[in-house]
Amino acid sequence: MPNRSFKKKSLPDKKGHFGIYGGKYVPETLMAALDELEQCYRQAKSDPSFKNELKGYLHDFAGRPTPLTEAKRLAKLLGVKKLFLKREDLLHTGSHKINNTLGQVLLTRRMNKKRVIAETGAGQHGVATATVCALFGIQCDVYMGAEDVERQALNVFRMKLLGARVTPVKSGSQTLKDAVNEAIRDWVTNVRDTHYIIGSVIGPHPYPMMVRNFQSVIGQETISQFKKAKRQQPDYLVACVGGGSNSIGFFHPYLNFHSKMIGVEAAGLGLNTTKHAATLSKGKVGVLHGSKSEILQDAHGQILLAHSISAGLDYPGVGPEHAYLKSIKRAEYVAATDKEALEGMKALSETEGIIPALEPAHAIGYLLKNKRRFKSNDTLALCLSGRGDKDVQQVSKVLHL
Ligand SMILES: *Cc1c(COP(=O)(O)O)cnc(C)c1O
Repeated sequence: MPNRSFKKKSLPDKKGHFGIYGGKYVPETLMAALDELEQCYRQAKSDPSFKNELKGYLHDFAGRPTPLTEAKRLAKLLGVKKLFLKREDLLHTGSHKINNTLGQVLLTRRMNKKRVIAETGAGQHGVATATVCALFGIQCDVYMGAEDVERQALNVFRMKLLGARVTPVKSGSQTLKDAVNEAIRDWVTNVRDTHYIIGSVIGPHPYPMMVRNFQSVIGQETISQFKKAKRQQPDYLVACVGGGSNSIGFFHPYLNFHSKMIGVEAAGLGLNTTKHAATLSKGKVGVLHGSKSEILQDAHGQILLAHSISAGLDYPGVGPEHAYLKSIKRAEYVAATDKEALEGMKALSETEGIIPALEPAHAIGYLLKNKRRFKSNDTLALCLSGRGDKDVQQVSKVLHL
């Protein structure tokens, strides 16, 4: 039954706030660029030709709509009535990230900007950005922590093959948060001809709203796929949460429905250690990369290093809308450890013939560990945000079969 008390239309407010979260905490030089972006986005959103163009690329280039696959053997293992997988793993470049990069590259063209910059952690967003820049012949610079450049050599090569320039960032912890800082620095300098394609629902307004809307195609398709099959909408939606884009894209269109929502963060080596990335379980309110949200920080407000076996979840912040949904209890946030994610990866591979990326494997791992909380007549839908090809080499070193 739809939950009428929740008015999703009002979010975020004009200044980009989701309750106390979100907003725009940036240097003065970026305010004009953010306004320009927001204006361009709002015009594009109500322009049927933009919608059709994006729809065309999502269909012909990225491979949408993605299937909704019933996972019968895994459902049986979990003891639930039905489990459906939203197959973002089947998209071009291997994950949901292409939904957002295609949307933003079309905006780049609308704003007549000649250059794109992006940050990347594992390299997945960098690859998705380099891909759409190649498609449109736009110059692309990707910032990546020097440590990540080492760890993700294959993705670095992919980006270069696609014609992008990859700049290793040697400051700080040499990982994703430092890459974001460097991209922001570049943007401040080159804002007139450069668009910054942020890879998740993070950063200053309008990014969390805009990226959410580009990713909402996931949930919208799922709703119509359930309808078309004359099935009841799911009792639970489950998705992994890094910055939070695949999960909010899955959840957002369902906010007025009865479906319960579970976001699964990375618990790394455990929530009682400091080696995790469970921002919503363990974070405190603060400002990171231009918006207010829950953040992993120490008593002095210093940003802590996140840890996860999965580079895509390894971020000390989270999208402001998730912090808000948690605060009003519309969504629940839990965490799965590295070990549980590996169990999840193994289970989906063995029961369904689908090797998931380590990120959504956290969501599967959570379900396995907590299967007693579900009833035998529950229907679950899980966002399978990406495929596991990128992870098999890493996993082969820790999972001895
Ligand atoms: C990047 C990535 C994520 C995490 O990002 P979100 O913004 O939280 O979706 C999750 N799954 C896959 C496959 C990814 O590549």
